[in-house]
Amino acid sequence: MDGTGVMTEAGVIPAPGGGSEAQAALHRVFGYETFRGDQEVIIEHVVAGGDAVVLMPTGGGKSLCYQIPALVRPGTGVVVSPLIALMQDQVDALRALGVRAGFVNSTQDFDERRVVEAEFLAGELDLLYLAPERLRLESTLDLLSRGKISVFAIDEAHCVSQWGHDFRPDYLALSVLGERWPDVPRIALTATATHSTHQEITQRLNMPGARHFVASFDRPNIQYRIVPKADPRKQLLAFLREEHQGDAGIVYCLSRNSVEKTAEFLTRNGVEAVPYHAGLDAGTRAAHQARFLREDGLVVVATIAFGMGIDKPDVRFVAHLDLPKSIEGYYQETGRAGRDGLPSTAWMAYGLNDVVQQRKLIQSGEGDEAFRRRAQAHLDAMLALCETARCRRGGLLSYFGQDPEPGGCGNCDTCLVPPETWDGTVAAQKVLSTVWRLDRERRQKFGALQIVDILLGRRTAKVIQFDHDQLSVFGIGEELTEGEWRGVIRQLLAQSLLAVEGEYGTLVLTEASGAVLGREREVPLRKEPPKPTVARSAASKGERSAKAAVELAPELLPVFEALRSWRAAQAREQGVPAYVIFHDATLREIAAARPKSVAELGTISGVGEKKLLTYGEGVLAVLAGLDGGAGPVPDAAPDPEWPEPADEPEPEPEGWA
Ligand code: ADP
Ligand code: ZN
Repeated sequence: MDGTGVMTEAGVIPAPGGGSEAQAALHRVFGYETFRGDQEVIIEHVVAGGDAVVLMPTGGGKSLCYQIPALVRPGTGVVVSPLIALMQDQVDALRALGVRAGFVNSTQDFDERRVVEAEFLAGELDLLYLAPERLRLESTLDLLSRGKISVFAIDEAHCVSQWGHDFRPDYLALSVLGERWPDVPRIALTATATHSTHQEITQRLNMPGARHFVASFDRPNIQYRIVPKADPRKQLLAFLREEHQGDAGIVYCLSRNSVEKTAEFLTRNGVEAVPYHAGLDAGTRAAHQARFLREDGLVVVATIAFGMGIDKPDVRFVAHLDLPKSIEGYYQETGRAGRDGLPSTAWMAYGLNDVVQQRKLIQSGEGDEAFRRRAQAHLDAMLALCETARCRRGGLLSYFGQDPEPGGCGNCDTCLVPPETWDGTVAAQKVLSTVWRLDRERRQKFGALQIVDILLGRRTAKVIQFDHDQLSVFGIGEELTEGEWRGVIRQLLAQSLLAVEGEYGTLVLTEASGAVLGREREVPLRKEPPKPTVARSAASKGERSAKAAVELAPELLPVFEALRSWRAAQAREQGVPAYVIFHDATLREIAAARPKSVAELGTISGVGEKKLLTYGEGVLAVLAGLDGGAGPVPDAAPDPEWPEPADEPEPEPEGWA
C-alpha cells in the first residue's frame, strides 16, 4: 500500500504539511511525531531501493526501519525472523495499527498457511513474517517469486554469525536472496554491537554494497548496578520490594534448578513469578512467555534460554543472580529492560563463587584451546566490568568501541556512590603466599574457604586435620573480615593474579602472581561495602505502585491506573498483550494531557489513526468517569531462609518455544 492510502476513514489526524510518504505513515499508522536517530535516513535509503545493515540497540526503533519501507514501497515486505513463538503477537500488534500483516511458520496448519499465501499472492499483505527454515524450501522461494516483494528484512541478523550466541544455521541460506531478487532492497538488523559480528553479517548475507548504520549503543534510561552477593534471593526480594513493586521484570539465573527455586521463593514472598528454562516442556514455556507478555507486572525467572526478541516495552528491571559469561551476553540481557525509554534497572548480585564457578566451567568445558582462550577473554572483560571503580556505562560503551562520557554517566552505581579503593598489595601478598605454601605441600589442594580460615587463624576441623595452624601464615590476616578476604580473593581472581584449577576450584598462582609477591607490582582493590549498596535513582523514590508512571505527578497516578485497568480489560477481551493496545508511555501522556476530544487524543504520541478509531471513545469515557484513587498494594509475606542448591548451569539455548 502507499503511505497516503493507509487510512480510509475520516482524517482525524492531519498529516504534517510537506512531509514525505514515510513521514505520513509514521504519523498516521504509528501515531508518532518524529523519527528517532537514524530512522529517517535508513528508511529513505531503503525506500529508494538501497541495501542496509543496521546496528541499533534494543529499543532503538529497528522495526520501523523496515515496516515503513514495506508500507511505502509497492508489494509486500518479507521479514525473516527466528522468533516463531512471537510472530503471532507481532502480527497482532501490526493489525491493531491497521497494517495488513501475516506470517507463515511451522505452528500453522495447512489451511491457515494457504490463506496467508493467497493473501500474499493477491497483493493484500503489507508485511509477511517468515521463519528462516522456510526459505530453505524451494516451495517458499517459488511462492515468493510469484508475488511482489517490496523489501526483505532480516531481523536478528546476528543469528548468521557462527561465533555469536544465537547461531541459526538456516540463516546461512539467506545469502541467496540477493541473487534471486537483485532489485529488492535488503535490510539486515541486529542489536549486537561487536565489530566481528557486524563484519560476519555483511559477508555471510552477501551484502557488500549495503550502507551501514551504527547507532549509539548507550541505553541512558537503564541504571546499571552490581552489588556484592551475600544472600542473593533475599537481596533480590529487597530490591524488588523497595524499587520495583508491581513491575514486570526478568531475573536471570545460571541453572534450571536455581530458576525453579527462585521463582518459588518470590511467589511465596508475594512477588508473582514464573520459571522459564529449556528443561520445561514447550507448552509450559509458551504459556509462561505468553503470561509475561500479556499481564502487567509479572516476573519471569529464567536461564539464558529466555529473551531474544521479547519486545515487551515495559520490562522495568532485569536482575542477574549469576554472572553472565560475557559483556555481550550481559548487554543483550539487560537490554531487554526499558524499551519504552522509561527509567529501568539492570541489577546484578556478584560474588566470589561466580568467579570460581565460571573459571571452572571454562576449564572443564568442551572445546579446543582457542575456544577456551576466547571464553577466558570474554569472562575477563565481564569481570573487569564487575570490579571497576569507574563508570559502568563507560565500561560497557568502550567495550563496544564507543567513547563514553568523560565525567561518568550519573546513572550507574559507581557514578551514584563512587566506590572507595585501597592499596591491597599487602593483603594480596598474604593471600598469594598462603596459596603458595599450600601448593608446596602438594598433598591436597584447597579452595578459597580454607585460605580465609587460615588467614583469620580459625582452628576448624579441616585446618587441624592438615596442620595448617602450624603454617607461618596462620592468623596473619586478622585485620580484615571474612567478607573482605573473600573480596580480596575475588578481585585477585578477576585480575588473573590467582587462578582456579580442577573440579574442586583449587586456588593456584599464575605467572602474574610472582610480580606481586616480589613487590614489583601494586594491587589497587575496591573496598567491599559493609552492606549491599542501595543506590536508588531519584525516579524510584516515593510511590509504592505503578513505577512505570514515575514521571507523573502523584495526583495523576489514579488516572494512569484507571487507564491501565481499562487497557488490561481490553487486552483480555482480545487476547493480546496489553502493550498492543497502548504502551505505558502513551497512557502516561494521556493521563498528563487529559484530552477532552478525539482530536486532542489524536495528538498524543503512540495514538495513530486506527487506534483512535478503535479506542478513542473508550479512553475518553475512562477519563470522563474518573473520581477514584489508586488501589492499595498488599504487603508481601515475610521471607524465609532458603538453602543454596548445588547445581548445573543451563547449556546454551538450543531452540525456543
Ligand atoms: P527495537 O526493535 O530496535 O528493539 P522497536 O522497534 O521495538 O525497537 O522500538 C522500540 C520502542 O520505541 C517501541 O515501543 C516503538 O513503538 C517505539 N518507537 C520506535 N520509533 C519511534 C518513534 N520514531 N517515535 C516514538 N516511538 C518510537
Ligand atoms: Zn556511570
